[in-house]
Amino acid sequence: MGNYYILMGISSFYMVLESLSESLKQILNKVANATSVDPKLVREITREMQRALLQADVNVKIVLELTKRIEEKGVKEKPPAGMGVREYLIKVIHDELLSILGKGHAIKLGKKMKILLVGLYGQGKTTTAGKLGRYFQRRGMTPALIAGDVHRPAAYDQLKQIGDMINIPVFGIPGETKAAKVVREGLTKFKDYDVIIIDTAGRDRLDDDLIEEIKRVAAVVEPDETFLVLDATMGQQAGVHAKGFHDAVGLTGVILTKLDGSAKGGGALSAVAETGAQIAFVGVGEHLEDLEMFDPTRFISRLLGWGDLKSLLERAEEVITKEEAERIAHRLMSGKFTLKDMYVQMEAVTKMGPFSRLMSMLPTGMFGISPDRSQIEAHQKRLRKWKVIMQSMTKEEMDDPRIIKSKRISRIARGSGTSEDDVRELIKQYNIAVRTMKNITSNREFRRRLERQMKDMGGEIE
Ligand code: GDP
Ligand code: MG
Repeated sequence: MGNYYILMGISSFYMVLESLSESLKQILNKVANATSVDPKLVREITREMQRALLQADVNVKIVLELTKRIEEKGVKEKPPAGMGVREYLIKVIHDELLSILGKGHAIKLGKKMKILLVGLYGQGKTTTAGKLGRYFQRRGMTPALIAGDVHRPAAYDQLKQIGDMINIPVFGIPGETKAAKVVREGLTKFKDYDVIIIDTAGRDRLDDDLIEEIKRVAAVVEPDETFLVLDATMGQQAGVHAKGFHDAVGLTGVILTKLDGSAKGGGALSAVAETGAQIAFVGVGEHLEDLEMFDPTRFISRLLGWGDLKSLLERAEEVITKEEAERIAHRLMSGKFTLKDMYVQMEAVTKMGPFSRLMSMLPTGMFGISPDRSQIEAHQKRLRKWKVIMQSMTKEEMDDPRIIKSKRISRIARGSGTSEDDVRELIKQYNIAVRTMKNITSNREFRRRLERQMKDMGGEIE
């Protein structure tokens, strides 16, 4: 029960976490805290890394090479002058992990660009077109979509539906069979837009027809970016496809989709990187918000099963304003956590997407949660009910739920169309939340970070 409240508090909790590189140091605390860095410790650590990497489907050969290099450097090499043995070992591990993910392909925001999406059938091209649109839209640019898949009859409708959902214009010519023609007209129509994203048709496999068509379309588009959209559940097979397309059409980057819930994510990532094609974005869910710029540093933590704190943090920042975060941080510090605060956080967490997604970003087992579908659905159902109940409360009641006694309870229940038990349940949950928040804030490490963060934000602690 308490775990759930920590989850609700997470949006603000992670506001105050340091960058990933620092949490990586935490992961490697074992090294830092060991009484001595000896060959035995190094072996122990590489053994643990092997297990984690193999579990993430990273190629055995890559894993063995990597851990061998770590053992060699960690045991035999002397650290450079001025660097301690421990720091050096931590750096070696960090750098070696980075080396298997490639550099990533960062997109410069703010300049006009045309993005061509290519890939096999069912990999997520059309969905990703929408996600990219959303990505740029959120960053203040004007995106537009072109439906260049002229083979599947419903392809235009699918893209149009996606575009309508996020208010991004879609161009297509239903019935037209020449992709190049559709694309040419679309480009003219959207010439004033910042980012034009072109969806294309796929096939079951990379064949000559597909290459020919992509080439024709590419000649019309003259794309700034040509992204291969690739399903991460393919695991190490992803590397073969990336190489095939890279050789055929010259990619500027790869977008790996369906990394959510894919045990083979590590395999796909490292295999693509090994071909020399850089990963630009990763798709991490079915929602249009579920796209992240690929940052290898962040992925190190995910590969090791430590969750991806930094992207969680960024996502939280997108849904909660800085002021809101600061307000909640204040509340946390001073122990004044109102129902309104809980409501804001509940909303933020809901906006972050399904719980399963959120939880997959957390360090495995950190809160002892192993979410199964039914549990998640039950939580979401309760959330909806609580929202309705809170909407029937007065400001005073929200500020200080302790004043809610039996008379108010029946009024709120009537007003919200719920039962008195429902209202009591919410108040009980609130009390648990307050206790949990108190526990979190009394944690010295947390408090220290929060204080530093508050200072950075220019806030005062009450
Ligand atoms: P296309 O044939 O390449 O255009 O693929 P679609 O965009 O139609 O996607 C195929 C299926 O994959 C759809 O059901 C999408 O919802 C799903 N999909 C796409 N990207 C992701 C992702 O990142 N995560 C998950 N879980 N599903 C995805
Ligand atoms: Mg499609």
